[in-house]
Amino acid sequence: MTGTDTSGAERDRRLLLVHAHPDDESITTGVTMAHHVAAGTHVCLVTCTRGEQGEVIPPELAHLSGPALGAHREGELAEALAELGVSDHRFLGADAGVRFVDSGMALDGAGGVILPVDAAPDAFARADLDLAAGLLAGVIDQVRPQVVITYDPSGGYGHPDHVMAHRVTHRAVELAEWSVERLFWIIVPADVARAERERLAAPDNPFDPWPPGAPAPSAAAEAAVSVTIDGAAVVDRKAAALRAHATQVVVREPFFALSNRIGQLIAPIEYFRLAAGTPSSGGLFGE
Ligand SMILES: [Zn+2]
Repeated sequence: MTGTDTSGAERDRRLLLVHAHPDDESITTGVTMAHHVAAGTHVCLVTCTRGEQGEVIPPELAHLSGPALGAHREGELAEALAELGVSDHRFLGADAGVRFVDSGMALDGAGGVILPVDAAPDAFARADLDLAAGLLAGVIDQVRPQVVITYDPSGGYGHPDHVMAHRVTHRAVELAEWSVERLFWIIVPADVARAERERLAAPDNPFDPWPPGAPAPSAAAEAAVSVTIDGAAVVDRKAAALRAHATQVVVREPFFALSNRIGQLIAPIEYFRLAAGTPSSGGLFGE
């Protein structure tokens, strides 16, 4: 994609992304957002929770938890979106006085991620599907995006809030009066995941390598890729956005890590699978 033409129809393109927590937008779709902002697309981000259950990395911020952490992460997200150039951001339900909280996650003992038994009653993963989807449908009807992006059915790696974001987005697209042309899932092709693991085994990765046998998030067959966004020109924006999420992310370019200290590449290329709507060759908008 060239993506620098801001004339004509390009100006009318509207992209909506639905993410579970602050930082997810930068980690999985940072270059896609920056690339489309630069191309003149209206980019709207909906974040479903404020990430109140996130694990805080910097010792000096370790006292933050619950609502205080959520408030702090609102600030980090605003900073990240300034780096990406995104000016339209909404927390799901905020305009209706509804607040969904981070569900947190637990491990099931078999390598899977599940909803913690003590998740709060207002945890996003426990929300009424049609209530949450109705609130998102309201955003869709306001923004009128031709293209919507969210997670695959696994939510990428099984986090209950990510799975819920997937379900809510699909239901909202059904409930909205506005007809979305294309709905995409964020994926990582298997060959890309393999290459990343090899890269993480190199000695210049200051973090841990990917654990042998651990599944890759959002892994998909190469053939599943519908759209590839090559964001090499804006990957510095993605790195800056990741740095803004300082409670959750440590950045040592070209790597970053979450609290588990496992290295990941700041991917300059992001991949999407068409889940519903008009097939197209080329970009998200069929360009
Ligand atoms: Zn998340």
